[in-house]
Amino acid sequence: MADKPHMNLAVIGHVDHGKSTLVGRLLFETENVPEHVIEQYREEAEEKGKSGFEFAYVMDSLDEERERGVTIDIAHQEFDTDEYYFTIIDAPGHRDFVKNMITGASQADNAVLVVDVGDGVQPQTKEHVFLAKTLGIDELIIAINKMDTVDYDESDYNQTIEEVKELLKQVQFNTDDTTFIPVSAFEGDNVAEPSDNTDWYDGPTLLKALNNLAEPSEPTDLPLRLPIQDVYSISGIGTVPVGRIETGEMEPGDNVTFQPSDVGGECKTIEMHHEEVDYAGPGDNVGFNVRGVGQDDIRRGDVCGPAENPPTVAESFQAQIVVMQHPSVITAGYTPVFHAHTAQVACTIESIDQKLDPSSGDVEEENPDYIQAGDAAVVTVRPQKPLSIEPASEIPQLGSFAIRDMGQTIAAGKVLTVDE
Ligand code: GDP
Repeated sequence: MADKPHMNLAVIGHVDHGKSTLVGRLLFETENVPEHVIEQYREEAEEKGKSGFEFAYVMDSLDEERERGVTIDIAHQEFDTDEYYFTIIDAPGHRDFVKNMITGASQADNAVLVVDVGDGVQPQTKEHVFLAKTLGIDELIIAINKMDTVDYDESDYNQTIEEVKELLKQVQFNTDDTTFIPVSAFEGDNVAEPSDNTDWYDGPTLLKALNNLAEPSEPTDLPLRLPIQDVYSISGIGTVPVGRIETGEMEPGDNVTFQPSDVGGECKTIEMHHEEVDYAGPGDNVGFNVRGVGQDDIRRGDVCGPAENPPTVAESFQAQIVVMQHPSVITAGYTPVFHAHTAQVACTIESIDQKLDPSSGDVEEENPDYIQAGDAAVVTVRPQKPLSIEPASEIPQLGSFAIRDMGQTIAAGKVLTVDE
């Protein structure tokens, strides 16, 4: 897979606007839907006398397989175009979509926003666009979906893109460079092939637009940051922490440290896909073994990095947050759970330093008494337990977090500065 660059793609948008269907369609058009799934569907469709191919079904059956614990090839979530290998960084429709979008195994490089042409901009459309901006996604491709439901009408399409442009402007996305595409995920119009149904549209297909995205910069120049997902004990080998390398590189013989657990040693072996390797880089899922580090010494949420450039442990940190939903108001002293990379730590919002205009980022008020849903703010945060987190300007992959409370994602944010 080394011949084309890798791109992490988030597919965002309001519930039922067609995210799963579009992902299913993309996998199908790029021949990444497993044959047995197609076969099984054909049989069921025949039994029930249905015709056509319900792409949401593809996604559902993939989810079911995963839940049943059937080994599922990672390829199910990947597809390639001429230029890139794409990984869909989350199963759309997943309940914790927003949380995973922020703290998921990897950060999205770009996103496709799906908007139902008949439904227009809805609450989750706004929420996801807001988040995409906060998390540093620069480029959005806008798929105006379900064009078949409005007979591929150009004026309906134009009306919806005006609504979306309005939203993008509020959130300060550059709308001049944004690609809007009229599609039907269900029928396949303008996904892989230009559609005769939209002869008024002469822009790219969705696959073409994905091909045209700018190449993400490879974070190999940054120091090693490997958030630990799990720690196994394997007989014959010993303690094996596993996780995905966010930035930097790793080789056997490297001297590494785990923070905040503050233990370390020489990396003896690295495994990828059950094979020993002598190098691992960004995006690689690895299991490894460190001399002298036992299972009880480290835990999920630790970050592994070079001994000479260890991951930062925050005594407190200043962050910019966007409040997405909260039943009342947030005041100083509020202590929800912060989800950052693989860590979950209760943190107190010690002070609300500035309230910002959510669209321009200008300071609206110094030291406000409270903030609420829809507000953006700069806050000072004190973790209740040691937490490894970094300024987003230095290591973006380790600089964002989600704030969760009452089973919901309350806010998202990025780290500005850290007090060690
Ligand atoms: P999600 O919640 O955003 O993932 O939406 P789904 O992909 O589950 O789609 C919601 C519903 O819209 C399903 O019943 C789909 O079959 C339907 N749907 C999705 N895309 C299209 C489309 O292009 N045209 C039509 N007519 N229906 C669609």
